[in-house]
Amino acid sequence: MTPKISQFLAEKKPATPCLVVDVDEVENRYRALQRALPLARIYYAVKANPADAILSRLVSLGSSFDAASWEEIEMCLNAGADADDISFGNTVKKVSAIKAAYAAGVRLFVFDCEEELNKLAQHAPGSKVYCRLLVDNYGAEWPLSRKFGTTVESARELMLKARDLGLDPYGLSFHVGSQQVETGSYEMAISRVAALVSDLSEAGLDLRMVNLGGGFPIRYREDVPHIDDFGEAISTAMKKHFGNALPEMLIEPGRFIVGAAGVVSAEVVLVSQRGREGGPRWVYLDIGRFGGLAETEGEAIRYAIRTPRDGGQTGAVALAGPTCDGADIMYEKTHYELPLALESGDRVELLGTGAYVSTYCATRFNGFAPLAEHYI
Ligand SMILES: *Cc1c(COP(=O)(O)O)cnc(C)c1O
Repeated sequence: MTPKISQFLAEKKPATPCLVVDVDEVENRYRALQRALPLARIYYAVKANPADAILSRLVSLGSSFDAASWEEIEMCLNAGADADDISFGNTVKKVSAIKAAYAAGVRLFVFDCEEELNKLAQHAPGSKVYCRLLVDNYGAEWPLSRKFGTTVESARELMLKARDLGLDPYGLSFHVGSQQVETGSYEMAISRVAALVSDLSEAGLDLRMVNLGGGFPIRYREDVPHIDDFGEAISTAMKKHFGNALPEMLIEPGRFIVGAAGVVSAEVVLVSQRGREGGPRWVYLDIGRFGGLAETEGEAIRYAIRTPRDGGQTGAVALAGPTCDGADIMYEKTHYELPLALESGDRVELLGTGAYVSTYCATRFNGFAPLAEHYI
């Protein structure tokens, strides 16, 4: 938690649950990533947190943007981004969204199948396109599954077809999964991309760009490799597989840029033993799975929690949200310990919640108001 957030919470005591994001810290993270990978252009993944304060700050730093829908593109434009600096990075796009993006000047689109490529040829003629490859998400704590990406063989055909359709076959992309904690995971993907680039070059098609996606991790309860280690691993792999013919590099960080810049302030609603001697205490907070903590699904992302009673004796707890839904449990299998003195009314902080929280919040499920947000 940054000093600015601590001070804001202490002085303002905003109503809970709320998310507080230190926009200066967003800037620090952007700069750290830029230093780690100076050759890469940063396309911030808007879905991680589309707040105007964040987008505007990133515009002022010269960032580009990876948008998943027309609505996200509009948010970027409203924050002052240039259409030229926006990539429409969702492989699944409505025709109306493609048309609106094209009309607004967006000229960079992803695809991973022939049907989508045809849509782009028709509604975004002449645009730069890149094909997303399916890669292993091993090492990712929040994997992106098999929903996106195609095989090397089909990408080869599709890139040749893109040229025949009058599009600009610009490059290839992949995404190694979110909260990727293995620095080596990018190399496997880079080697496959490089092999395909060289194969296509022999077929007379020269690709100019590699989009390495996002995935860079932040610290939750455990240490993760430093961003410079990722930069080093990626730069080394690019040199090894591309030699001196380095293509343009794009990265699409989301979590790394905003995750660590945010804190959720919440209140303990109830601490109970519920008659089960020997079992863990149940701690119910005023935020849960439906209030924005969707990434606790499968207990995948395990937030660090601070309480005003830290330092005292602790005991095992299960942690749940305030709704009447049985799925609204954050952690039951993962070992969490909180102070024995914790009681209802205490304010607690969930750290590292700047990404993938505010937008995952359900609107008024069980009558609870959506998460309040403060950008400072
Ligand atoms: C979600 C997403 C990102 C951002 O991933 P992080 O793990 O938050 O860095 C980047 N690119 C694409 C295509 C995505 O879907």
